[in-house]
Amino acid sequence: MTVKLVHARLPPLPTIRDIIRLYKLRAMRDLSQNFLLETKITDRIVAAAGKIKDGEVCEVGPGPGSITRSIIRKNPARIVVIEKDKRFEAPLEMLAEASPCPLDIIYGDVMNFKMDKMFSEVRKREWSEKPPDIHLIGNLPFNVATHLIIRWLNSIAERTNAWNYGRVPMTLTFQKEVAERMVAPIGSPQRCRLSVMCQNWCHVKHCFTIPGKAFVPKPEVDVGVVHFVPLESPVIDLPFQLIEKVVRCVFNFRQKYHVRGVAMLFPMATRDAYALEMCKLADLDPTLRPFQLTVEEMGRLCQAYNRILEKQPKLAFYNSRASRADRSKFDDEDDSDLLDLQI
Ligand code: SAM
Repeated sequence: MTVKLVHARLPPLPTIRDIIRLYKLRAMRDLSQNFLLETKITDRIVAAAGKIKDGEVCEVGPGPGSITRSIIRKNPARIVVIEKDKRFEAPLEMLAEASPCPLDIIYGDVMNFKMDKMFSEVRKREWSEKPPDIHLIGNLPFNVATHLIIRWLNSIAERTNAWNYGRVPMTLTFQKEVAERMVAPIGSPQRCRLSVMCQNWCHVKHCFTIPGKAFVPKPEVDVGVVHFVPLESPVIDLPFQLIEKVVRCVFNFRQKYHVRGVAMLFPMATRDAYALEMCKLADLDPTLRPFQLTVEEMGRLCQAYNRILEKQPKLAFYNSRASRADRSKFDDEDDSDLLDLQI
């Protein structure tokens, strides 16, 4: 049997380069716009998303539509694009008219956009099932992409937003160094908070790197394409905020013993005692460095912190990054009543 791949045909359209020229779409610095013009590269980004034929795709930040064209050629059932910059209205409308599948355009900020009703109900899958036929794809500005993935990890943890449809996968671009941090294994020089956060909720793959020179205008850095698939069960199954707080504190002093970062979870007077207690409860050598901890070991620290909070709920409000005035509510008090090591 021979299988013939049929790609949706778009009627002849001006090239992306012509569109940029025609509509005078100068890249705006404050939106960190860098456009991809080469079909070979946009096709590769879309291929990294896996099989999208007959599925629903949401593209974030389509700009003049080069990745959108590659998506269309893969015959999805429907595409939704979310674009902040209204200047792209004309080329996107032109693409919607030419597209053989429905292409809905939403003008807005993806950071605040709720996707919990955006796809067809019939696509919904249980979390324990294989991912639904829904795909999120985007080449967003670096600063937006990193904030967005943290926000989306929070949604994944809570199974809200697009993830009320199940384990929706994402294919997104980041500055290459950020992509490397996301997948960094223990012991690697790039291992950081982002590695633990991404790997706790997702299977993360750095698919390939796009050289900066492939973009117009050319950014200073190269770009990593990362594919995320939410895990059936997170490694650490605790609330997002608690995990985020522990992981942030532990990585506060990346090169020091991790107990040093753990101590930052607690007010001054109780700090050292609780930090050692947490390591004991987690059955961890306090002299391990943060980048030597597996996600599972980080999870044991989170569990230990959670147990301490069950005994001393007031400690949950302590934030070493809060203003001096707020911290002093703890640090100036006699905190000895907060120290209870009978856990
Ligand atoms: N996808 C196009 C490409 O690859 O050539 C454009 C990529 S450009 C790096 C990023 C795009 O995201 C721009 O079109 C920009 O206007 C849009 N964008 C930036 N911030 C956004 C936001 N918060 N919500 C939606 N779109 C945004």
